[in-house]
Amino acid sequence: MQFWLDIQQSLQDFISEDEFLTWIKPLNFVEFKESEYLLLSAHNSVIRDHVLEEFKRPFARAFEELDQVNLNLKIRVEQVQKEEMNLFEDSSDSVSSKTGVQSPLGSQAKDWKHSEFTSNLDSKYSFDNFVEGSSNQFAYAAAQQVAEFPGTGSNPLVIYGSVGLGKTHLMLATGNEIKRRNPKARVLYMSTHSFRSQIVNAIRHKKIDDLKQFYNSMDVLLVDDIQFLSTGSKTQEEFFHLFNHLFENKSQIILTCDRFPKKLVNIEDRLVSRFSWGLTVYVEPPELETRVAILKQKALDYQFKLTDDVAFFIAKHIMGHVRDLEGALTTVRAHANFMGLEATVPLVREALREQIVVHASILNIDNIQKMVADYYDLTLSDLLSKSRARSIARPRQMAMALAKEFTQMSLPDIGRAFGGRDHTTVMHACKKINELKQEDANTQGDWKNLVRRLQS
Ligand code: ADP
Ligand code: MG
Repeated sequence: MQFWLDIQQSLQDFISEDEFLTWIKPLNFVEFKESEYLLLSAHNSVIRDHVLEEFKRPFARAFEELDQVNLNLKIRVEQVQKEEMNLFEDSSDSVSSKTGVQSPLGSQAKDWKHSEFTSNLDSKYSFDNFVEGSSNQFAYAAAQQVAEFPGTGSNPLVIYGSVGLGKTHLMLATGNEIKRRNPKARVLYMSTHSFRSQIVNAIRHKKIDDLKQFYNSMDVLLVDDIQFLSTGSKTQEEFFHLFNHLFENKSQIILTCDRFPKKLVNIEDRLVSRFSWGLTVYVEPPELETRVAILKQKALDYQFKLTDDVAFFIAKHIMGHVRDLEGALTTVRAHANFMGLEATVPLVREALREQIVVHASILNIDNIQKMVADYYDLTLSDLLSKSRARSIARPRQMAMALAKEFTQMSLPDIGRAFGGRDHTTVMHACKKINELKQEDANTQGDWKNLVRRLQS
């Protein structure tokens, strides 16, 4: 056990805090055999696979630091309890244990478990029409796992990421899939806003106990955008009790949030700490290929003819959020319909003239330099100076690599924009950053953050 604690300590030097909290923290120690293996357990195969694939190197380094060079890392998936698997089987036993017979309404209690209600699940959102890519694959896998075994390992499932990246889509897809597999499952979706107004109204009309009974009767509760729970409010208090009740009854809870839950400022610690009991996964802005695939999927949904060329053209020029892509596609469709023409590159260029100009002006080298300087707390003249100090040279290399990736500039042009440097210097910078992105968690994190800023 001590060994595992030491390993965790050491791992934190090699991976980011978010990664640690999301992936390493949920692991449990099982056994350690010196010079042979470290055996851990995970709640599900999503966590296990991710850790074994993505954190091989950090683990190897941590083992090295503790003089256990050839140690094997093994992770087993904890058995899902049989009783938990039967969550949705409608045996009268399990029903009565979930209806809250101990309710304050006593024997008069309405049978909430069988009350009719609207799930609020928009059936338009499914796993089938969600495009998987490296920006969302863990969130996607985790959501599918939850749809298959609700209320077991990953509870709560928290999906976080910036706006318009598919959090709500994934959450609804999960709810829809659970209902498809178990039509009797009581699944309720609501936004944090509507949760709040329901609480407020119930208090006003002295119906709060009824409302609580109703929520408590759910098998699956989906609450969207929990960053809107506000401090010290009655809403947060009720949410806390609801969470505890559902969790203890092994009802599945799925939440979305616009940031890493630990970074929520207006939510009580006791609630935030509960969010990390399950599995926390993120969605990121999709990269080019995923954007192309999403456009094609959306075109298919609308039965709109979109050639690869055109999809690629749009995806290349409209970066950032999926919602922007959808907006662009809507504009293109309207334009094509209006003109009575098929969508071709020239037509799309015309239809999206304004969006494209905006993007081109944001993603120029000046902006990249400013943003990088700002990110690393340097001045622009530091960044462009001749200084070879690591604290300046590394950010400079980062800025060069970003310029290469996100502008159409040639290597010599980029060199010139950095105070007249040679194109080989730029080439070296790109190579270095690419290597560090593989090996060094900090560089990887910085890169992701900067790309996110450039794309937002
Ligand atoms: P969020 O809740 O993160 O703000 P949404 O789930 O509302 O974002 O997604 C915004 C729009 O983008 C929705 O119409 C959704 O269907 C679409 N979308 C986002 N990601 C994907 C994806 N990977 N595949 C298909 N559609 C997506
Ligand atoms: Mg949303």
